[in-house]
Amino acid sequence: MNKLRDFFGTFLLVELVRGLALTGRHLFARKITVQFPEEKTPQSPRFRGLHALRRYPNGEERCIACKLCEAVCPALAITIESDVRDDGTRRTTRYDIDLTKCIFCGFCEESCPVDSIVETRLFEYHGERRGDLVYTKEMLLAIGDRFEPQIAADRMADAPYR
Ligand code: SF4
Ligand code: SF4
Repeated sequence: MNKLRDFFGTFLLVELVRGLALTGRHLFARKITVQFPEEKTPQSPRFRGLHALRRYPNGEERCIACKLCEAVCPALAITIESDVRDDGTRRTTRYDIDLTKCIFCGFCEESCPVDSIVETRLFEYHGERRGDLVYTKEMLLAIGDRFEPQIAADRMADAPYR
């Protein structure tokens, strides 16, 4: 019976007709393809993209070099060195994130007691040479400075769920 069905199926091109019918249905369906980069899909305030280090409104770095983010990072992507300043406060002298190791899990952001290290909505970045994707403290602070309004707005939007 199966052989007979296969024979007629092949003879009458049933599968081809089914395939064309499926194509035809999609031809007139609403298109869901996004023409990136001209068009972009909506992003959640919790989007986990490129990292940034934030400052307080007075310009002071938020990071207190507690190293919780370094300890919690499952990919060992964060390297921190710290020192005590003349005023007795502790600050990082080195804060590197190796984005070739990072798995964008967000643990660093979750662990930070002062909302310093965050993940932004940025995902359009690249590196062309070895080492380009190791982001230093200065680079991370510059991203934070540039996108602080968006970062702060995202934290406010997400606050009820934290
Ligand atoms: S997002 Fe995850 S893997 Fe990436 S630096 Fe933070 S803790 Fe490490
Ligand atoms: S970024 Fe946050 S968790 Fe990491 S060392 Fe600085 S204060 Fe601590």
